[in-house]
Amino acid sequence: MRLPFILARRFVAAETLEGTLPVARRIKAEGLSTTLDQLGEYVSDRDVALQARDAYLRLVGTLAAENGAIDRNISIKLSMLGQKIDESFCLDNLHRLLAAARAADVFVRLDMEGTDVTESTLRLLETVHPDYPDHVGIVLQAYLHRTADDVARMCEKQIRVRLCKGAYREPAHLAHQSMDVIRERFLDYMETLVTRGRYPAIATHDDLLISKTRSFVESAGISHDAFEFQMLYGIRTDTQRRIAADGFGMRVYVPYGRQWLPYYSRRLRERRENVWFLVRNLLRG
Ligand SMILES: Cc1cc2nc3c(=O)[nH]c(=O)nc-3n(C[C@H](O)[C@H](O)[C@H](O)COP(=O)(O)OP(=O)(O)OC[C@H]3O[C@@H](n4cnc5c(N)ncnc54)[C@H](O)[C@@H]3O)c2cc1C
Repeated sequence: MRLPFILARRFVAAETLEGTLPVARRIKAEGLSTTLDQLGEYVSDRDVALQARDAYLRLVGTLAAENGAIDRNISIKLSMLGQKIDESFCLDNLHRLLAAARAADVFVRLDMEGTDVTESTLRLLETVHPDYPDHVGIVLQAYLHRTADDVARMCEKQIRVRLCKGAYREPAHLAHQSMDVIRERFLDYMETLVTRGRYPAIATHDDLLISKTRSFVESAGISHDAFEFQMLYGIRTDTQRRIAADGFGMRVYVPYGRQWLPYYSRRLRERRENVWFLVRNLLRG
């Protein structure tokens, strides 16, 4: 059964790229920037992975044709490009995408998924990065025990990192489970990244983490141009605007497409109120 898109509309811009472009233009016109994400993940069929690659190639071409009305910045999950089918097949698809992105000066962020693909995602990133040093970056999740090493390596290689808490259910031997510890780790990595990393993105809606980031950069004399904040489309829109008005970079992650259910489910899980919103809408028919 396909759930009606009206349920997801709070978190997902549109089911099509055409429907998403006006949303991205409006966000840009308000002084914020965007990264566009065509939804899809864990593809198990080669043809579907090739279709996803082609859809992303089309996205790159579309952004280039916008002539600056939309930021040239996209996010992608490698499991959509066939990572779980065959890593070398995924690598070919990624090379095709990055070559087009470099030619059109589009930045490609590799989202980070569950721990079944963490190692593979970093391996693929570090394989392609030397060829596209200005056009590809990664996401690191503060909840993973391994992240301290990954942060250090990304700083050493000057690979752009988006830092987030982590959105997947992971076992205790791989990930911290306590929110206090995750926040503490996040702040530690934030300090390292804004001090030694290359233009990091601090991706959170958490007031504590935002205010501590702001006070740290203030006290360390780090320029506002040296990093950016990122938030998800539909979450804390007023805060997004306020941070941008205060002179910080604020990029909004704008997902779109028909494969919205897994993304939507993660957003529901993050907050109990969202589940009530869903139930109310379903009852209303
Ligand atoms: C730009 C961006 C990219 C991301 N990319 C990845 C990725 O590649 N891999 C990954 O694992 N995770 C990713 N995440 C998700 C991230 O890991 C967290 O799961 C998510 O951001 C929630 O954590 P938080 O730090 O915002 O804090 P929270 O403590 O969850 O939220 C703080 C406050 O923000 C608001 N809020 C947060 N989430 C919601 C919600 N769903 N609905 C309504 N209000 C909400 C609430 O007011 C809440 O009290 C990304 C997040 C962002 C912002």
